[in-house]
Amino acid sequence: MALLFEISVPSVAIRNRPERFPVNRIYCVGRNYAAHAREMGSNPERESPFFFSKPANAVAENNIVMPYPSRTADLHHEVELVVALAGEPLSAKGENLSLAEAATAIFGYTVGIDFTRRDLQAEAKDKARPWDTAKGFDNSAPMSALTPVAEAGDIGEAQITLKVNGVQRQHGAINDLIWSIPELIAELSTFYKLQPGDLIFTGTPAGVAAVVTGDVLVGEVDNLEALSISIGPRA
Ligand code: MN
Repeated sequence: MALLFEISVPSVAIRNRPERFPVNRIYCVGRNYAAHAREMGSNPERESPFFFSKPANAVAENNIVMPYPSRTADLHHEVELVVALAGEPLSAKGENLSLAEAATAIFGYTVGIDFTRRDLQAEAKDKARPWDTAKGFDNSAPMSALTPVAEAGDIGEAQITLKVNGVQRQHGAINDLIWSIPELIAELSTFYKLQPGDLIFTGTPAGVAAVVTGDVLVGEVDNLEALSISIGPRA
């Protein structure tokens, strides 16, 4: 059946491959590192991580100059390990995945930044409103090229860092995730039927802070392609 008009399918590069990974949905996990939960004013002993989402077309390419977004004066970086889902457990099922099924649904990993309009998020929290305008704007989910699982080494042993203008701002260990990668995929699959092309931002370590025009951000996870984003002037 013909479509009324064409739209482009958002996609992410794959390291050393000509094909790109089509993006279906982008899920994000809030407060999945204890130290970051504390810096945001919550108690990780009492409050579990939780999910929110961004639109698929929030993805952005590595090495771009990202215009400083509209309607904020407090743009924050949150460096995160991103998990890309594809494969047999999803086409066969997708819901209520076991931890073993969750593990085999992982296509690969990459480094992303969950850019956040922190001022709008604070206002949304204050007024008990949704986070969409704080989290789901254009270019709010840049990421480097995906590394397939078989080439990513032991991701549980990896360190994650973010440098701004060469100075380290964020650091964590993937082992410090409150919900491990299979746990968060299994948990997410109790809310949604997961599909090939789904991406999951797995949470950010402590050290989130504001960026300004001219800043250069470099996010790294061991064995994955580094992500480099420059902040440009407002569009
Ligand atoms: Mn985040």
